[in-house]
Amino acid sequence: MKILVVNCGSSSLKYQLLDMDAKTELAKGLLERIGIEGSELTHEAPGKDKTKLKNYVANHTEGIRLVLDTLVHPAYGVLKSMKEVDAVGHRVVHGGAKFTESALVTEEVMKAIEDCIVFGPLHNPANIAGIRACQELMPGVPQVAVFDTAFHQTMPPESFVYALPYEAYEKHGIRRYGFHGTSHCYVSRRAEEFLNKKGQDFKLITCHLGNGASLAAILNGKCIDTSMGLTPLEGLVMGTRCGSIDPDIVDFLIDKEGFTTDQMKDYMNKQSGILGISGVSSDFRDVEEAAQAGNERAKLAWNIFAHKVRKYIGAYAAIMGGVDAIVFTAGLGENSSSMRLEICKTLGFLGVSIDPEKNKKRGLENDISTDDAKCRVIVIPTNEELMIALDTQEIVAK
Ligand code: ADP
Repeated sequence: MKILVVNCGSSSLKYQLLDMDAKTELAKGLLERIGIEGSELTHEAPGKDKTKLKNYVANHTEGIRLVLDTLVHPAYGVLKSMKEVDAVGHRVVHGGAKFTESALVTEEVMKAIEDCIVFGPLHNPANIAGIRACQELMPGVPQVAVFDTAFHQTMPPESFVYALPYEAYEKHGIRRYGFHGTSHCYVSRRAEEFLNKKGQDFKLITCHLGNGASLAAILNGKCIDTSMGLTPLEGLVMGTRCGSIDPDIVDFLIDKEGFTTDQMKDYMNKQSGILGISGVSSDFRDVEEAAQAGNERAKLAWNIFAHKVRKYIGAYAAIMGGVDAIVFTAGLGENSSSMRLEICKTLGFLGVSIDPEKNKKRGLENDISTDDAKCRVIVIPTNEELMIALDTQEIVAK
């Protein structure tokens, strides 16, 4: 079975074509600047030269068309015809409370995804456009929606209800939904297999640390709390997002700076976080380099990030009554041995003990704890595309 995985952002489109039987990746690529001058597609297939195509792409339908043409192109394509694709799996950011698992796309499902636009105004419209484009260009091929929120739907009400008047939840659906669910789900399953804990009593904390960052507390395979909330703005400090702050700051700044609502959102989503504190960059590599060169604000940004992750780990250990393993994943979690060490430096009381040599290895699933550590700390490269493809395969097989 060949599955195309599609991840549409507001102006970008990532794709991956997987052969599920051979367990191989046939091609992958990224189309950037959709609807903006300078659109560019980067396409890669194992054993072939990387291809870059610069053609203006006006919208997601044109983007999907370009991707499909590329996949069957005589020179850099990998398929004879699109008929070889058995199903398409789409990443959908917000599934609200409606979706506890992935779903075969029907008109009813599309309507429910549209209903969630209020919660994911930046992402859901792009996800919908991607699904519509595939429906149009690949008629008859099953489309599956895989939601970033679904894995977190097992949270109990004490984790997901905010302490606002209860009507806010009942009337508007204001509650914690959580994101990065596909990644938390994938790495938690891998961790259970890696540590041979499947189906056992197992307290796990997964740390997805990339540009966007979130933690999840996972008890016996089920998410019971996560740091992102109604939107991906809550929780940790991120590349450009502020994470949790005192809500009254919003009012204060609107008053003092005269911000409009949109300016305030931009301030918290795009100008804050590591970028806002350091004034250097939203990329942790630049911030670390600047910190090492003596930039005090870069050092502060680095420290605040680690401090906040530690705080959540402590909180999640408290609600689970302990922690058996901590997983680091995503760009920073997988690659930054220094950040992992920094986060873990006060966690000895939980039984965490990092082996500095093991911590240096990169790119592989890797237990970085000392042999005697009671709480295992492991690095697991996330693979959201594979998780989406596996879910798609399962649903299509049903
Ligand atoms: P997203 O998918 O949220 O955009 P990623 O998971 O790709 O993000 O993570 C991107 C971030 O990972 C970058 O901002 C960068 O700071 C960090 N990162 C990637 N490689 C390294 C590295 N070798 N050392 C430190 N940070 C890294």
